[in-house]
Amino acid sequence: MAYDKNNIFAKILRGEIPCKKVYENQHVLAFHDVNPQKKIHVLIIPKGEYTNLDDFTERASEKEIVALIKGISDVAKKIGISEKNSGNGYRSLVNIGENGGQEVPHLHFHIFGGEKIGKMVS
Ligand code: AMP
Repeated sequence: MAYDKNNIFAKILRGEIPCKKVYENQHVLAFHDVNPQKKIHVLIIPKGEYTNLDDFTERASEKEIVALIKGISDVAKKIGISEKNSGNGYRSLVNIGENGGQEVPHLHFHIFGGEKIGKMVS
């Protein structure tokens, strides 16, 4: 699938629509989900144009891949849900494609916390 430059996260990255930013570095941006499914629900995205995880692992540089995985953990520490800084833990997941339930065609990891997340898959 070709990357759609008009997807909502591309617009956030270009600053065309606002987001509630929690973390940013050269390679990633993290912001609160507009429709939180848990007490804390943050999304982390690569700044590059990648439709999904498979596209990312095929085309992204090792620096970008490391930054995104490390970013999940850095965000969790920053917002106080990591066990590393006395939080109670969290869940991160990524939806890929139609069966995965992906709605926005720009790779994003969800980060849920602040309460028990519950059943892994419904
Ligand atoms: P997914 O189903 O994995 O593609 O998840 C897309 C997520 O993006 C959903 O949880 C939406 O609530 C969230 N979302 C959609 N638009 C925005 C937005 N403008 N700002 C923050 N989160 C958004």
